Formats: sequence, C-alpha cells, structure tokens
Amino acid sequence: MSERTDIDTKKLKARMMKRRRELLKLGAADQESVKPLNVDQTSEGRLSRMDALQSQAIEREFERRRHHELQRIESALHRIEEGEYGYCAVCGDEIAVKRLENDPTTPVCINCAKDNGHTS
Ligand SMILES: [Zn+2]
Repeated sequence: MSERTDIDTKKLKARMMKRRRELLKLGAADQESVKPLNVDQTSEGRLSRMDALQSQAIEREFERRRHHELQRIESALHRIEEGEYGYCAVCGDEIAVKRLENDPTTPVCINCAKDNGHTS
C-alpha cells in the first residue's frame, strides 16, 4: 500500500489533532466536576434527585462517547503513521474522499460499514 495522493492527509490529521485536544480538555474539565451526588432532599425532593440521576447518566454517556471518539482518532493517526490511512481496514479498498472528509476517523469503506452494521 502507498499513501493516498488524492486526499489531504495533513489537513485531516490536523483536524483530528485539534479534535483530540478538545476531547482531552473536556475530559480534564470532567474530572474536576466528578463528585458524589449532593441532593437536597428537603426542598426539591424527588424531582431534583431524578434530575441529578439523569444528568449523571447523560455525563456517563458523554464520557463513553468521548472515549470512543478518542480511540478512533488515535487509531486513525496511527494508520497515517503506517501509511495505511484512507484504506479500508476490512477489504483494503480506498475509502471515498467525501467519506473521509465527513469523518476523518472512519476505518472502513462504505460497503464494509454497511456489511458490519456500523453507523459511521
Ligand atoms: Zn471495505
């Protein structure tokens, strides 16, 4: 495999590096806000507890997605280093330029994404 010449790998890489910095920053901010549920049972009662639980669930989901995206970025950056970037991890075909520009971290071509039920 040789490096793709039809895609601007440098530009996509810069985009991913920027996104990674943002995600890491979000994570650092999260760590500070992690604290035990502090619910005022006397005034707001049940509702505020449910709100607190709900926002905790949202935070957990957010964190899960953040990790997932970071992993995708890391492996895409790794593929750039290896000169494998832009090629489908499953069938080895070239991934469409538009697809990469839409999501630079995507590891598979559109056909394999369909086959595997991936959403991206
Ligand atoms: Zn493929």
